[in-house]
Amino acid sequence: MFDVLVVGAGVVGCAVARELSRYALKIGVVEAKDDVAMGATKANSAIVHAGFDAAPGSNKAKFNVLGNNLFEPLCRELGVPFIRNGSLVVAFAESEMAHLEELLERGTGNGVPELEILSQAELRKREPNISPEAVGALWAPTGGICCPYDLAFRLAENAAANGVQFRFNAPVEKVERCGDGWKLTLGGGVTLETKCVVNAAGVYSDILNNQVSAKHYNIRPRRGEYIMLDKSEAGCFSATMFQVPSAAGKGILISPTVDGTIIVGPTSDWIEDRSDTETSDFGLEQVKRVAARTWPGLPLRKAITTFSGIRAHETTGHDFVLGEPDDAPGFFNALGVESPGLTSSPAIGRYLAGHVAAKLGAAKKTEFSSDCGLWPKIREMTAAQIEECVARDPAYARVICRCETVSEAEIRAAIRCRVGARSLDGVKRRTRCGMGRCQGGFCTPRILDILSEELGIPQEEVTKSGGASKLLVGRLFGEDRQ
Ligand SMILES: Cc1cc2nc3c(=O)[nH]c(=O)nc-3n(C[C@H](O)[C@H](O)[C@H](O)COP(=O)(O)OP(=O)(O)OC[C@H]3O[C@@H](n4cnc5c(N)ncnc54)[C@H](O)[C@@H]3O)c2cc1C
Repeated sequence: MFDVLVVGAGVVGCAVARELSRYALKIGVVEAKDDVAMGATKANSAIVHAGFDAAPGSNKAKFNVLGNNLFEPLCRELGVPFIRNGSLVVAFAESEMAHLEELLERGTGNGVPELEILSQAELRKREPNISPEAVGALWAPTGGICCPYDLAFRLAENAAANGVQFRFNAPVEKVERCGDGWKLTLGGGVTLETKCVVNAAGVYSDILNNQVSAKHYNIRPRRGEYIMLDKSEAGCFSATMFQVPSAAGKGILISPTVDGTIIVGPTSDWIEDRSDTETSDFGLEQVKRVAARTWPGLPLRKAITTFSGIRAHETTGHDFVLGEPDDAPGFFNALGVESPGLTSSPAIGRYLAGHVAAKLGAAKKTEFSSDCGLWPKIREMTAAQIEECVARDPAYARVICRCETVSEAEIRAAIRCRVGARSLDGVKRRTRCGMGRCQGGFCTPRILDILSEELGIPQEEVTKSGGASKLLVGRLFGEDRQ
């Protein structure tokens, strides 16, 4: 019997699990896919929002501002890159300037500090590549950027170091009352019992809530498509460049990423299938057209990849639903956590863990490990540091990904850590192998070899991202000639 089972290993589930691991509790995380960060957490804008956008008094507004405050110290603790680069909402017509004033007022009401309206000249001085048609902007210096999946991995590693058990390929199909607690039935018929549940199942969180509570919610998936530009474009803008938002959301942005690339997007399209992360000609055309308003010279020939993510929009209240429904004590929701959910995750983690611990009357442990499974990265080292590393482990001298300078030792560490990679994409997101200009063209076969060796499985069994996504379909010439 678990004290708490967290359903979903996205950034929210991992943040809750890690906060819970401060208490003397038996905690598990059950995740449908083969890895951490397989939902919205792996495909979003990666912006740590300042908090001027959300409706005053909403959970989105409250947890955004709280989360923004917690982000920097949390990232420092976990060794996750975070840059407070600030954000600008750009107006392209005098009529849009009134909207900036509204955002400034709303943001100030939400508790966002230091908001300021910039004139055209001030904006151009700050961002010389901005379109000449821009007439002014709202400046929010507390906006930032981070790596969402890196944050989720480090939260998971740290939670595991503090005793949390992770179970992957474990989709929760049914939640039902069992005495004072809950019984979870996983795919394959396995059952787990627990005193409390935390529902952090992203776009599927309404389905789990609706199994246990008469207060039903409805998540309508909304897809956002992106184009990623090569590192050669780093420096085009220093802040995150928004346009004046519309009813469909915060609009199409252009932002530096913590890894030096440039992210452009997202679109905002309702879809039927909650798992449909395709990109479309229509969506990408829209990204290009709208982003060119901010950056007329948008260098599309520098695009290195495209991707999409799915927002978990809750249609009854349009807000995060956090906590226990009245008729399902011990079942805690983190439902409808769309943007600014990444920003809010540290605050949601604290909030829900505090409530679960209070419900269970749990005491804080006296010891808490700070280990979050970090390994040395050669791209961040001086020549002397690399030499030192190589002397300890010659695998640091074998560079597997040339675009992102990732060594064999780093790939092995990413597989061997507590919540280790089990697929090509798992290695990619933990190390940046295959995320550079060639998008894995050169390093994929070599990572496949290492995964096969480390996991003790034939190469044909290695997957791109779990399930049936096998990379090889067979051998042409038998074992000796691959
Ligand atoms: C296009 C887009 C742009 C965004 N931009 C930003 C931004 O810039 N800043 C920001 O703050 N936020 C942003 N967000 C929001 C942010 O990405 C999400 O709020 C956050 O990632 C949600 O995390 P989560 O853990 O709740 O959900 P997810 O990351 O979706 O994780 C849910 C997990 O639950 C698992 N799961 C689902 N059902 C089950 C089940 N039955 N059993 C077991 N496991 C299950 C899934 O496999 C998944 O791994 C954006 C979102 C999108 C889609």
